[in-house]
Amino acid sequence: MNELPLGTQAQQRIAFLSNGPKNHFIDGKWQPSMSGESIDTFNPATGQRLALLARGRTEDVNAAVSVARKTFEGPWSRFTPHQRATLLMRVVEILEKNYEELATLESLDMGAPLKRTLAMKNVLVQTVTYFAAQALNWAGTTVPNSLPGNFTTLTIKAPVGVVGGIIPWNAPLISMWWIIGGALATGCTAVIKPAEDASLTTLRTAELLVEAGVPAGVINVVTGLGGEAGEALSAHADVDRIVFTGSTVTGRKIIQASAVNMKRVQLELGGKSPDIVFSDANLEKAVPGAAMGVYTNSGQICTAGTRVFVQRSIREEFVERLVDFSKKIKVGDPFDPDTQLGPLVSEQQLKRVMSYVEVGGQEGARLSAGGTRLGGELANGYYLAPTVFDDVHNNMRIAREEIFGPVLSLITFDTEEEALKLANDTPYGLGGGLWTSNIRTLSRMMHGIKAGKIWVNCWGLNDPAAGFAGYKQSGYGVKGGKDHVEGFLYEKTIYINGD
Ligand code: NAP
Ligand code: MG
Repeated sequence: MNELPLGTQAQQRIAFLSNGPKNHFIDGKWQPSMSGESIDTFNPATGQRLALLARGRTEDVNAAVSVARKTFEGPWSRFTPHQRATLLMRVVEILEKNYEELATLESLDMGAPLKRTLAMKNVLVQTVTYFAAQALNWAGTTVPNSLPGNFTTLTIKAPVGVVGGIIPWNAPLISMWWIIGGALATGCTAVIKPAEDASLTTLRTAELLVEAGVPAGVINVVTGLGGEAGEALSAHADVDRIVFTGSTVTGRKIIQASAVNMKRVQLELGGKSPDIVFSDANLEKAVPGAAMGVYTNSGQICTAGTRVFVQRSIREEFVERLVDFSKKIKVGDPFDPDTQLGPLVSEQQLKRVMSYVEVGGQEGARLSAGGTRLGGELANGYYLAPTVFDDVHNNMRIAREEIFGPVLSLITFDTEEEALKLANDTPYGLGGGLWTSNIRTLSRMMHGIKAGKIWVNCWGLNDPAAGFAGYKQSGYGVKGGKDHVEGFLYEKTIYINGD
């Protein structure tokens, strides 16, 4: 019998982790940092070092952008849409073949239960397939002529060029595809800066892309710190577009840095999404739905429905069921098949979330479940029990600021009007949820809530073919759907005088 912890056993199966430090992936090759420096990355389930990553700085970013530019102007520009679509379908095959390894790496790196990362395979395959289809599906138009004389007016589209992509640690395997999918579908090239806490699946994917036949230099990865490699990428004068997923604070810096050459910017930022449970909701579905809408991925999901509004007439029953459900959730080793929630990504993130638990108590909210770091066998990892705050007011900090942990704030309301007003009283507008069987309520609320994505009697589903754009400080530019791809394209108009 093997007595090593399950995660360690999994780690030993991954050849990618056994062959030394992980360098940048530039021009299809592993390249160390020019400074020779590296940073550690940890397994959040154990607190132990998982790998050494190259510490990228301006000079490494410069090298990657220069390769991406040369590849964009050179061999990659000769690929036809059909060739890019075929390539993306080959990528789908290779991702499917290597998916178990990718899921294991992701779980080791950022702590999500392996069961969850394995289940995300369909989402990844659907997303990449969607981009394969999009490679054949963008085009200019011929404009009906209103000009005097014999004119033909047409628009043509062209890839914007070199795309910089900066992604967070909460779901890197899928997040990176919102950048590289758009780039590969349109003929752009990209330089990705993954989060320092979870860079491994981005690196391995880049390597697999080359194995699938994507030319070296099309997708490059520079690892390192946000304030160094990230900043250098967002400020680089030869990067044409920046696609950023992360916090609103960093999003602001990205906008400022983009001014240097007027980069096209797309931002997916933070949220404090409302999830509203009306008295006519089916509680069999609403209770687990609202709870997992917060706790999934240990609360590290931008669209988490962290403000749960419940109508007063069902409050007692809802709270009782919710607390009961929350206490029964199995938090534990990501590699244990019974685990529902793994650790938070890092010690720093755990401390940040715990500080909000303290703030909630100081503000007068009632802690009805969780709020504690888990000990025993889990003491070295960054585990927090699913946490419920009851008697929360929408103006408390725990209801206004993004916590990014498994912390649910329960707010009671009386009328639909009140629910709508409170739901929209937030600086964010990313997601929203409704639990009701009344079509009139549904209709008024779905039009009234100011958010990019609304789930009705469900939570958390995503279809790459459906676009969404955060309202307010949740970012701008469409993610998903045809408009997502449009963001990687210039449009120009040609006037032809036929006389
Ligand atoms: P973050 O601090 O903003 O980091 C995101 C990425 O930006 C990381 O790669 C980070 O590098 C980098 N970065 C940090 N400072 C930078 C700078 N000055 N210039 C350029 N890049 C910089 O966000 P996080 O706390 O890691 O991630 C959680 C946040 O992401 C939450 O706010 C969440 O809502 C948001 N998110 C949004 C979506 C969405 O679709 N709307 C999806 C997922 C997550 P380091 O890792 O080295 O710091
Ligand atoms: Mg890690």
